[in-house]
Amino acid sequence: MEKYRTQIIMIFKTNAKKILTDRNTHNDLRSIKRTQTQKLKTNMTINADRLQSHFEQMSEIGKLGETGTCRPTMTPTEKQAFELASLWMQEAGMTTRIDNFGNLIGRLEGTKPKLPILMMGSHLDSQPYGGRFDGVAGVLCAIEAATALTEQGIKPERSIEVVSFADEEGWRFNKGLFGSRGILGRLEEGELDRTDKDGITRRQALIDFGCDPNKFSESEYAAGSIHCFLELHIEQGPVLDLANKPIGVVSGISGPLWLTVKLKGMAGHAGSVPMPIRQDALVGAAEIIVALRQIATQIPGAPTVGTVGTINVFPSSRNIIAEEATFTVDLRDIDLNRRNRYEAQLREQIEGICSKHNLTYSITEDWNSEPRYCANWLKQIVHKQCSNLNLNAPELMSGPFHDAMALSYAADYAMIFVRCKDGISHNPLEFASYEDLALGAEVLYGTVLEVLGE
Ligand SMILES: [Zn+2]
Repeated sequence: MEKYRTQIIMIFKTNAKKILTDRNTHNDLRSIKRTQTQKLKTNMTINADRLQSHFEQMSEIGKLGETGTCRPTMTPTEKQAFELASLWMQEAGMTTRIDNFGNLIGRLEGTKPKLPILMMGSHLDSQPYGGRFDGVAGVLCAIEAATALTEQGIKPERSIEVVSFADEEGWRFNKGLFGSRGILGRLEEGELDRTDKDGITRRQALIDFGCDPNKFSESEYAAGSIHCFLELHIEQGPVLDLANKPIGVVSGISGPLWLTVKLKGMAGHAGSVPMPIRQDALVGAAEIIVALRQIATQIPGAPTVGTVGTINVFPSSRNIIAEEATFTVDLRDIDLNRRNRYEAQLREQIEGICSKHNLTYSITEDWNSEPRYCANWLKQIVHKQCSNLNLNAPELMSGPFHDAMALSYAADYAMIFVRCKDGISHNPLEFASYEDLALGAEVLYGTVLEVLGE
């Protein structure tokens, strides 16, 4: 026992020594990093400390636990966030308003107010169990870029608008991008009658928020009135983190195809129906799920993603062969031709697998949107800003959609991605460092400057 004790002490001592050495190296690295950050900060036009303080203050509104956020759209919590953001917009010299769709808009009037505007922004609403950076990053960095312009004494010809779009997230009324589609006259029939889980209609929520749904047309933007749209967002995926790059230049937003597939077989006793004559809907579903994965991964390295996220089985009993299996398919790709080809392959597989297991099936298309590409000229400007900061920023596509997707139908757009730790998002663990966010804001600022000088 004594020998064992000594062994443990020895191991502890070695470990403690290692921890100390590690800690010293870590401290060295930290102080190198701190000096680098300090140097970077002094080279920046935007104010990294102010930006950080804005993030910290905003994260207090709708705070969930230590690091989470719950800030549903069109609620007093979001109103509070709007009031805080309005203050910062006004400090930047902007006039602010909330339009009839529930968007917060700050406007920095240009010397030629009739010119099409430069618009930038994102959203301040969050998922019910969300993080501090999704959407917030785009709004706060845009305010920071505008503030920097004003501080530099730059008076642009073109007016600039910074927008926090209403209901980007879409979970409250089960349909997102409300504000960004609204201002472009792209709402669909019946959207105002959609209800949340408490039975409140979108119409009522808008009225309660101080908006007038009968005056939507007053808040719409005429065709050609937006020169371009810029959105900074956390990546919400792991690509930049894995590549160890703080900033990425977005090539486009891949369009999702959403299908619901329903397979029908024949229920029977799990203990008596012989295997060869079964019509097991769940076995069919299982094979299709695997087939979708094979289809989506056939070109190694391609950005295609295919997901079955939900499945319902009827009658869902451990000793009854499944009669029905209903599941969703989410297929995304930046290359529409390839996505269409894969969809055809999937439909072929569904046909084959169903006939093998003697099942009937139906497929309904819930959503089909095409990929939307960023404008080349804007992308080049963003790349240039990144190389000015020695960032060596990779180009990547966005799997998730953003307000920029709606805006892409009205104007050229570009997106700047900021690294997000482990790619975690829509989760209180979501994290982007203030250093990376400051770099993103500086890239955004440089892009704005160059666009204004066009
Ligand atoms: Zn977002």
